[in-house]
Parts: sequence; structure tokens; C-alpha cells
Amino acid sequence: MGVQAALKLETSELPPLRRAQCVLERVFGYPSFRSHQASIIEALIAGRDVLALMPTGGGKSLCYQIPSLVRSGTGVVVSPLIALMQDQVDALSELGVRAAYLNSTQEVSEQRQVEARLLNGDLDLLYAAPERLMTERMLSLLRGADIALFALDEAHCVSQWGHDFRPEYRQLSVLPEHFPHVPRIALTATADLRTRQEIVAQLHLGEAETFIASFDRPNIRYQITDADGDARERFWRFLRDEHPADSGIVYCLSRKSVEETAAWLAGKGRKALAYHAGFDAETRRLNQRRFLEEDGLVMVATIAFGMGIDKPDVRFVAHLNLPKSIEAYYQETGRAGRDGEPADAWLAYRLKDVVTYRQWITESEAGEAQKRIEQAKLDALVGLTEIVTCRRQALLAYFGERLDLPCGNCDNCLNPPVSRDMTEAARKALSTIYRTGEGFGAGYVVDVLVGKTDDRIRRNGHDRVTTFGIGQDVPEAEWRRLIRQLVARGLVDVDLERHGILRLNPACRSLLRGEASFMMREASRQEAPKRKAKRGTVERLPSEGGPLFDALRGRRAELAKVAGVPPYVICHDRTLVDLMRLRPRTLSDLQMVIGFGAKKIERYGAAFLEVLRTAPET
Ligand code: ADP
Ligand code: ZN
Repeated sequence: MGVQAALKLETSELPPLRRAQCVLERVFGYPSFRSHQASIIEALIAGRDVLALMPTGGGKSLCYQIPSLVRSGTGVVVSPLIALMQDQVDALSELGVRAAYLNSTQEVSEQRQVEARLLNGDLDLLYAAPERLMTERMLSLLRGADIALFALDEAHCVSQWGHDFRPEYRQLSVLPEHFPHVPRIALTATADLRTRQEIVAQLHLGEAETFIASFDRPNIRYQITDADGDARERFWRFLRDEHPADSGIVYCLSRKSVEETAAWLAGKGRKALAYHAGFDAETRRLNQRRFLEEDGLVMVATIAFGMGIDKPDVRFVAHLNLPKSIEAYYQETGRAGRDGEPADAWLAYRLKDVVTYRQWITESEAGEAQKRIEQAKLDALVGLTEIVTCRRQALLAYFGERLDLPCGNCDNCLNPPVSRDMTEAARKALSTIYRTGEGFGAGYVVDVLVGKTDDRIRRNGHDRVTTFGIGQDVPEAEWRRLIRQLVARGLVDVDLERHGILRLNPACRSLLRGEASFMMREASRQEAPKRKAKRGTVERLPSEGGPLFDALRGRRAELAKVAGVPPYVICHDRTLVDLMRLRPRTLSDLQMVIGFGAKKIERYGAAFLEVLRTAPET
């Protein structure tokens, strides 16, 4: 009998949430639930449907894994990422959970074995690709089995608006007809309203309880610098000072610069690999594998790398070029610090990047409306690079989320940049937007401000508004920059669906009423933030951890090799830090260490205790 079977019996008298708490502690080795996890788990255990929107690293997996262990039967997880199924099943097996997957990479005989385990009730979790799940054969198999729940992971794949639409996902809508009493949970890290509505409509989740977590990633420190020419040198200083031995991803725009940068890093003595779509499949697979399995490797890549990379201990994501939108920036930087430990999102951009993108947009085959959307998205990102206030507040504002106080963990908070008081100009811009009826884009508003008398303005009568021509003292380029910054700070909204027209956000009232001022980042640049600044609330992991940390990391690498899994599947860095802090002596002391559940203690406890006994005091 596995750990779970035993647990189910022992705890079956307890109320559901208490049972879930037991599983959290004893199987996963975590002391408490994160935001929303408890409510989601409670709803599923009670048999209700759930829609969960949580950022990457938010802890989505536990939301269905724990109810699958608490409810009777097998939890069926639908995921489009076949490459990740193996990892997830490995990680669960390490915890003593009975998990398996069904996908096209398996031999038929292997598939039959998994099916038999399902029918026998020998599986806590089964992962399957949607096209496999929806076959007649599979459906009738499932009808013969005891199903605890359906988890529809990456649920945004059902949406045509999203970035990875998968037609197979649409077929999942029939699940409730076949299994009316089995609760479903749809999960995604894509939170925009349109995608959300489509998920609800397509998957018939109108009755589902919806949970929307904050999309803030407080452990990520955002830093943006304007590098003009020396991006690499700046990056090198950052890498040397902040991450001398960590794993991270470096994004470059072109294949050529990927290869050059990887070679340059290797020349400086860092373990670095390159990855882009021009390599053959085998090279890409190998490099990805090494990135997952080795400690301290830097992956230099185009954005072709990253989708489905579940490595939790990526300590930094660096961009040596501007990403193409705030959405892309958020998604790419989001690959850092999934384990919740401090991580860096570091971006150095040049004006040249902006010009390159503009050119691509102008020359693309897309229609005019689409081009304007792309342009407005790019402008919003440029705005984010230029603000002098909290980056995190701006980033979240873009996604419609309000953070009340500056974060204290971005470059602008840690080391406020030089800025200029542009309050008067900002008010002029806001009232021009207002007086032209909130129906025009930035170009038009600037034309009115500087008093251009073209036909359109005259036809609309906007040469007669009181702000017409009152901005002649400020250059046009400066006005545009100012408007971008107003947008970036959430004082003005851009309607991407209506040609990028500008509208006042209620948040701008205090500025209009004269109660707030508006500071604009100077074009000249400040240095990167001071090194010693305090790092949010999370204690920083040792990057070069001293002899004991190295010894523990070394032991973990050995165990990982033997088990044939990446080191983070054995345990996370936080567990190693906890071991150093708590200095457990016995196996039962290990229950206090985060990430050590019953099975991990049984398998690896002694090996780590031995390191602690024999290693030098630090
Ligand atoms: P997501 O799928 O939302 O990106 P994961 O489910 O992979 O996130 O979880 C991210 C990390 O956080 C994992 O390493 C997971 O073990 C950890 N985690 C999740 N929930 C908790 C919790 N309640 N306490 C501690 N760690 C947690
Ligand atoms: Zn901040």
C-alpha cells in the first residue's frame, strides 16, 4: 500500500480541508497553503467545478493533485505539454504518489499497462494529452474507472485569442455529458478577460467557482536599463556580482547574437549553451535536457526557448534586447523563480530595438488595425522602461491589477532614478485627451497640443479647444514620451481594440485636481541598483553558498543522477537552506524541513543527514 492509500484510510474521518492539510504536510512537506489553494481544494473535494487563474509559479499543480489524493479514484490531468508529463510523473513518484501518463511517445504495451492500473484503482493521478483523452476507447475506459476529478491544465489553449490555440481542447466540452458527477478544474496563467470568457463558454464552466490570484510575482526583482551599446558588459557585471553560480536564461533577438553571446560567456568561463529554432531537434533536446539537469548553467536563447520549461530554480532571466510587448516581458521573465525564491528579471534595451520593431510592424503583412495594436503594445512596453516610479505597479496596472504601495523590489524603488517635474505638462496632456472626447490616439493628441492645424483637427473643431497649441514649448518627441509614461503608470488607458485611442483612467483625477505631481524619467541614465539593497521580504538564497551549501548541493546532484531526474526533483534549494538553518539530526527532525514529506525522508533523509554530520560548521 502506497503512502496515499495509507493516508486516505487514516484520515478519512477528518473534515475534507483537514485531510488536505495532512496531505500537504505529509506528502509534499509544506506547512501551509498559498493564497486560494485552500479554497480551490475545498471546492473540488466537495465536487464543485473551479476556474483558477494563477500566475506561473503560483502553485497550480497542488490545486488538483491534493484533491486527487483526498477524493476517491484517479485524478485525470489534461495537458498539451507532452514533454512535461514525464517530469511531473517523476516528481510525483519521488513523493510516493502513484502517477502515470498516456501519450503518443509510449509503446502500446506500456499504454495497456497504464490503462490496467487505472481500471484497478492503482493510480492517484493520470496525465493525458487532450487528443488521447477524447478517443472513444479512452472515454469508455474512463467510464469503467473511478475518476476523482478532471484537471484541464493550460486551459487558455481552448481560446482562439490566446497564443497557443489547440483545436483538440474544444472537444473537452463534452466531458460533463459523459461524467456529470466528476468535478472539473480549468487552470491557466493567462488572465485577460477575453481568454477567460472563452474558457468559460467553451468548456461550459458557467457554474464554476472562479479564483483569480494576484499576478504579482513578488520574489522577482525587475531591473531595466538603457544600455546603448554596452548591454553585454553591463550584463556581465550583473552576472558576476549577482549570480556567479546560478542557472538562468538570457534572451536575444537574433540567432546570430544567441550564438555569439553563448560563445562569449563560455570564453569568460561560464557554463553556457545556445538554443534557437535553427538548431536540429536533437541538439535542442540535448541542450534543454542539460539546462534542466545541471546546476549553474546559463541558457542563451531566442524566445523559441521557454514554453513548457518547468525548471523551478531559474534564478535570473536576462533580456539583451527589448521584448516585443509587456505580455511577452511578463511571460518570459515569469520563468524566473518559480520556486518562490528571490530571482532577477534584468533587461537592457537600446533605442535601436524599438526602431527595429517599428520597422517590422510597418513592413509586416498585417492589416492596419493589427499594426496599430502591435504599435500600441510596443509603446506600452517602452513606457514601462521609461517610468521613474515602481515597475511592478506599472506592470500590474497594465494587467488591470492595482498594487497600493511601491514594491521595494525593483530598480526604481531601490534606487530612484533622476527625474524631472512634468506635472504641468502632464495636466495639459490629460485635459487635451479629455477635451478631444477621449476618442483619439497619441499622435492626434500631440498634434492638438503643439497646435497643428491639419484638416482632421479642423473638421473635428479641435483647433478651438482651450488646450490647442498650449504645448509648443515642449518638443513633440517629449510629448510622446510623456504620454507613454502616463499610460505606463495607469493614468491613461489605451484601447487596443479601438485603434489605440487614449482614455482617462479615474486614477488621473488627483493629478488633474492638483493633488499629485508627475515626475518623468530623464533621458540620461543612472547606474544599476546598489548591490546591497534589501531584497523584498524573502531572504536571499546563497548564490555561492559556502562549503556546507556546496556539499548539500553536491549530494543532491549525486542522488539525482542515481534516480535519473533533475536535481530539483530531489529537493529545491530552499530545502537545502532549511537544512543548514535547522541542522536536523534525526529522521523525525526532518519533518520540520520544508519540502520533506514522508517519502522523501524515507528515501533521502539519511543521505542529507550524513552530509550535515560530516560537513564543517559554517
Ligand atoms: P504553476 O504550475 O502554477 O506554475 P507549480 O504548481 O509548479 O506552479 O508550483 C510552483 C512551485 O511552488 C512548486 O515548486 C511547488 O512545489 C511550490 N508550491 C506550491 N504550493 C506550495 C505551498 N503551499 N507551499 C510551498 N510551496 C508550494
Ligand atoms: Zn517597485
